[in-house]
Amino acid sequence: MTQLPRPPYVQCEDVFKIHKTHELEVVALRGLDLAVAPGEVMAIVGASGSGKSTLLNILAGLDQPSAGRVRVGQRDLLTMNDQELVDYRRSEVGFVWQQTGRNLLPYLTARENVEVPQLVDGVDRRAAGARALELLAQVGLEEKAGHRPNQMSGGEQQRVAIAVALANQPPLLLADEPTGELDSATATEVFAALHALNQATGVTIIIVSHDRTITERVDRVVTMRDGRTSAEFVRRVTFGRERLAMEEFALVDRSGRLQIPREYVDRLHLGTRVRVEVQGDHVEVFPVTSDEERA
Ligand code: ADP
Ligand code: MG
Repeated sequence: MTQLPRPPYVQCEDVFKIHKTHELEVVALRGLDLAVAPGEVMAIVGASGSGKSTLLNILAGLDQPSAGRVRVGQRDLLTMNDQELVDYRRSEVGFVWQQTGRNLLPYLTARENVEVPQLVDGVDRRAAGARALELLAQVGLEEKAGHRPNQMSGGEQQRVAIAVALANQPPLLLADEPTGELDSATATEVFAALHALNQATGVTIIIVSHDRTITERVDRVVTMRDGRTSAEFVRRVTFGRERLAMEEFALVDRSGRLQIPREYVDRLHLGTRVRVEVQGDHVEVFPVTSDEERA
């Protein structure tokens, strides 16, 4: 169940990103591993400052990692030159921002907004218009094609933004808190649109969110903590039951490192050292007593 059925489409290994500002250096990613299968709809969650946007900007080709390996399809994002990055951003990825205002041109209609990236790419006007209508229908907004952003709700604007992001048929869609400014009911419509497009085109979708209900909206959720992926929730179908359950896994990196959930660290007063013992088919972790800690 945790095994990916096909080779990953997105693969990050031991990725580091250091943001440098004046005299300050912030390590936003510290040894991050992540694999995403082609056609998957998955989410990345984590507290503010855990590195989610940094990771998404790297996958979008908007920023480059300081070290590590990042592959998307056949491309190596660390060795691409500027022109290759421009091509990558234009053909491989669509991006949806949290701020509805940042995704759309305010003086253009929904249809025109979806046409723009196609026209820039050299698609002729008629074909661009037809594709725009088709995409707007897929996100359930055919009847709003002639509306400008200020004549639409926040959720409708985000669905248009998804159509814009997919206008040139990129195989990867990245969305940074796409429902962060929306209420829950409206967010549900946005997720329905994402799933419909995933079903129709097989586009791989990575959503960053700090909304806890995201676990009910996607098949897999990866948690980030301190610049690394730390846990994973995978949807498990329980036969004979109405509800789908999410199964939680802690992630072990290639060096064997594992993050113990903070709740357990606090509850068992785990310090900087623990005792690890193999018990038959599993490993047990014991707190070190304060006497041993002092020794
Ligand atoms: P998240 O999206 O999970 O809130 P970010 O990736 O935005 O996290 O940020 C991770 C860390 O990197 C934070 O400490 C943040 O302040 C820092 N950071 C992010 N972008 C920059 C930047 N351009 N310059 C300096 N520091 C940054
Ligand atoms: Mg962010």
